[in-house]
Amino acid sequence: MLHIVWFKRDLRVADHAPLAEAAAAGPVLPLYVAEPDYWRLSDASPRQWAFTRGAVQDLAARLAAMGTSLVVRVGDVVEVLEALRQRHGALALHSHEETGNLWTFARDRRVAAWARAHGVAWSEHAQFGVRRRMRDRDHWARFFARRMEAPMIATPARLHGTDEPVGRLPEWAREDGLTSLQPPGRAAALDLLDSFFAGRGADYRRGMSSPISGERACSRLSPHLAMGSLSMREAVQRVAAELARADPVIARGNAQSLLSRLHWHCHFIQKLESEPELERRAAHSAAEAARRSTAPDDPRLLAWAQGRTGLPFLDACMRSLIATGWLNFRMRAMVQAVASYHLALDWQASGTRLARLFIDYEPGIHWPQVQMQSGATGINTPRIYNPIKQGLDQDPDAVFIARWVPEVASLAPPMRHMPWLAGGAVPIVEVAEAARAAKLRISAMRAEPGFQVAARGVFERHGSRARTFGNDHPVETRARAAQKAAKAGRQAVLDL
Ligand SMILES: Cc1cc2nc3c(=O)[nH]c(=O)nc-3n(C[C@H](O)[C@H](O)[C@H](O)COP(=O)(O)OP(=O)(O)OC[C@H]3O[C@@H](n4cnc5c(N)ncnc54)[C@H](O)[C@@H]3O)c2cc1C
Repeated sequence: MLHIVWFKRDLRVADHAPLAEAAAAGPVLPLYVAEPDYWRLSDASPRQWAFTRGAVQDLAARLAAMGTSLVVRVGDVVEVLEALRQRHGALALHSHEETGNLWTFARDRRVAAWARAHGVAWSEHAQFGVRRRMRDRDHWARFFARRMEAPMIATPARLHGTDEPVGRLPEWAREDGLTSLQPPGRAAALDLLDSFFAGRGADYRRGMSSPISGERACSRLSPHLAMGSLSMREAVQRVAAELARADPVIARGNAQSLLSRLHWHCHFIQKLESEPELERRAAHSAAEAARRSTAPDDPRLLAWAQGRTGLPFLDACMRSLIATGWLNFRMRAMVQAVASYHLALDWQASGTRLARLFIDYEPGIHWPQVQMQSGATGINTPRIYNPIKQGLDQDPDAVFIARWVPEVASLAPPMRHMPWLAGGAVPIVEVAEAARAAKLRISAMRAEPGFQVAARGVFERHGSRARTFGNDHPVETRARAAQKAAKAGRQAVLDL
């Protein structure tokens, strides 16, 4: 029997349970299917494909060194699998579980139906610390810890393959504004871990909130974790090993903060795993009822997405994201909050634009975060980031603004934050007034009968019970204080 290892967002040979299982069972056919219907979706983009393509090439080279070729096919997975079954006879299918978008969810159901119809055993292994068919969050943190502490899966020394023709990866290159692609592949991922612990991470907590220092101080592991060139367990165990060192190069607090974020990664993906509809439907019913659709060509959506709002710091963040495919967490939260609160755009329209721009697009983190930063969960304190104040805090000398918004670079630094005060064009929205209007909308929603009962339901399903990986970000600390206030019956909305 032939054992097909179907690689999806797990493009590595290390710590790869399906590959190890297949290699122990018989001849292996490693398969990657480039699916045109997926890459045509509105949340998929050429930049994501460019990173994925590089990671697949890296995987192919590693498999070749182990004695077999990665078979690449372009098309529908079920049709590809059926063609292989007709050519090779009896098959077994091995893969990781995927918590993707609704499209991949439906595609996996078709694969399951095909496997059942043809008596093909499909063995799926958990990816990350994410649990299938989980009803509530009560024991999730323990589950995550157990999975991360388990030993890494040994990489098979040699693979015995087939004579299946190898195939070619499509180019699918299209101009999408990216000027530099973060290097894909496992060596690049390991380099990032090494450089982080050799010194880069010394500035992690202090530097992560500014887009200037964050570019270097943040781990930059996100696209590698999203495409699986690095396993979550490998990353967590590396951090744990650094924490256990007697002579750490970077302060333990920084390593601990990275560990918290790796935990959040899985905590967020678990939300979409438990409720895939969160990609389209607000977690809280009142937030869903309050939604107003935004047309894809809405001029305010386009101005926001293209970095043309006239708010220089916001525009600088969007333009830098367009050029690099990456933005630090605080600025992602800010751009999403401005879209949803100040510009009153529907979170799905703005979230889709962001998804396409992120090289690290991970649906399970993205959609719950988009909802959280848009006030759609009902269980998180709404945070109305002020894009001018954020600029003054995170880019006090306006060098980031000058770099990405050259049209204001000739102004004195303080004026670059508010060029309209120097006679420049006014932005598309008046920030203070729009924030007040957003607060009124939030208050009206929260005052509706049944709001708290529905919020309790969202918390039961998705809320964090973890204490061990406590939030350590100053914004989180303030948010927790505000949550306490909210529980005590007071209205809490954070102006940041
Ligand atoms: C609106 C919005 C959308 C986002 N969409 C994505 C996305 O599509 N893909 C994605 O990987 N991250 C997303 N994030 C989370 C976070 O911003 C990125 O993970 C982070 O900026 C990536 O840079 P880094 O790898 O240097 O992060 P680091 O700060 O070094 O963190 C290390 C890792 O921890 C995880 N992580 C960090 N912050 C978070 C968080 N808040 N929630 C969950 N996991 C986290 C990521 O895997 C990250 O690579 C989003 C955040 C917001 C506010």
